[in-house]
Amino acid sequence: MADATFKETMTFRECVDRMVDRAIIASDFDPNTAKIIQACNVVSQIKFPVKIGNKIEIFTGWWAQHSSHRLPVKGGLRFAPIVNQDEIEALASLMSYKCALADIPFGGAKGGLCINPANYSVSELREIAHTFGTELARKEYLSPALSVPAPDMGTSSREMVWIADAYKNMFPENLNQGACVTGKPLNRGGIPGRTEATGKGIQFGLREFFHHPDEVEAAGMEDGLTNKRVIVQGLGNVGYHTAKFLSEEEASLVIGVIERDGAIINPDGLNIHNLRQHFANTGGVKGFADGDYIENAASVLEMECDILIPAALESQIHANNAMSINAKLIVEAANGPVTYEADEILRHRGIKVLPDLYINAGGVTVSYFEWTRNLSHMRFGRLQRRYDEIRGTSYLQAIEELTGKKVSDQLRNDIVRGASELDLVRSGLDDTMRMAFRDMREVMKRNSKITDFRTAAYAIAVAKIAQSYYDMGLAEPPTDVTT
Ligand code: NAD
Repeated sequence: MADATFKETMTFRECVDRMVDRAIIASDFDPNTAKIIQACNVVSQIKFPVKIGNKIEIFTGWWAQHSSHRLPVKGGLRFAPIVNQDEIEALASLMSYKCALADIPFGGAKGGLCINPANYSVSELREIAHTFGTELARKEYLSPALSVPAPDMGTSSREMVWIADAYKNMFPENLNQGACVTGKPLNRGGIPGRTEATGKGIQFGLREFFHHPDEVEAAGMEDGLTNKRVIVQGLGNVGYHTAKFLSEEEASLVIGVIERDGAIINPDGLNIHNLRQHFANTGGVKGFADGDYIENAASVLEMECDILIPAALESQIHANNAMSINAKLIVEAANGPVTYEADEILRHRGIKVLPDLYINAGGVTVSYFEWTRNLSHMRFGRLQRRYDEIRGTSYLQAIEELTGKKVSDQLRNDIVRGASELDLVRSGLDDTMRMAFRDMREVMKRNSKITDFRTAAYAIAVAKIAQSYYDMGLAEPPTDVTT
């Protein structure tokens, strides 16, 4: 069992940099181009006062823009007590690589506010978010054209509305003001499927993995997701939706959920809907009737399972517990949950990892769809839906006339129904996850020095960013990572 007092030797940013270095070496990239790509372009610390009760409190936040080779830059905005500059820089760089891998035309950014939201009332939080939004907009770190935050740890559609309102107050004449943030509620310019997008993307990514018997076999597993024993850390936005989709739609068994106050286990599978209700009512997992409570939450990370999904925060699998991990596949739903040293250990142990920059890209993918929808001022499918329905009906009539047979009601419905906006969003997300998985496999097939998904993902991302720098005349021609 791991030593609970263990301290990591590398910071989060150093871990990301080392992982990128590994890909750069394996792909023989020009070292100078690599240096340009790895540097974080802008990091700003913002301190601002807000009156809380009858006292003034000074809040500290950061906004980092790793790479603006594509604009706007895009990144989650987190509200958490542990936020610091190193973490924000690491997350901003991760975002550049993630967007490049998923073919999303954004640069990478990240924002954070050092705050424990639980210590403030809703109206106080609104005031704090609004003031932070105003400060970001004043410095052009909030802008539909330049810099677009999204929800992350400790923030949701509610915070995005408060921040969008701050922008709107400053730039009421900007026709595209709604696109200054993504992850908004539906009636404020949001898009169906954004809230659960990261969890849905994880489900699609896992399906893709299980579509490849060679990968599944190499991980020491068989067949599909049905009955796979899953442990999830974190029952927030990402963890909850992932656990819900896997248990309800893939028939996987979520045998453990780890939260701040401990863990709940049940070898027959937990009812995620009921557990989430319990979590919402009590603020923790302790006391949930349909499972056993384990106080030492970290020990459940080391429990035997097929798929371990850290979906809470960074550095959860580190040099001190990597040897004790008893999963066949690790799915990095959170950003940076596996440190560099742990990653090396897991590679040696043959434990497969679906890396954060691939597997949790669903959030930014659907954010990209939302941003595009905001700029077009029209929902997806509005022009085609009825047309597709009429065409489908004509096809159906033609088939029935030619064959003299009636098509079943189920098939009739499938052919005649025009796609809803959610259908289109899900299809775009599925395709993004599928193509990125295909690209990673292609790199591993072509380059014998690249044998894991993370290095493959970084090699693709660095090559795409290098291409942008080359196109701007700022770098050497990039290496073709697939040769
Ligand atoms: P969230 O705030 O909704 O949920 C985080 C959950 O983790 C909470 O339930 C919290 O109680 C729990 N948690 C915190 N510390 C813990 C600990 N030590 N042990 C166990 N549980 C703990 O945040 P989220 O949006 O779900 O984000 C989670 C992770 O996923 C973060 O790393 C984030 O950067 C990443 N991510 C989020 C999105 C998104 O769309 N929200 C997209 C990509 C990546």
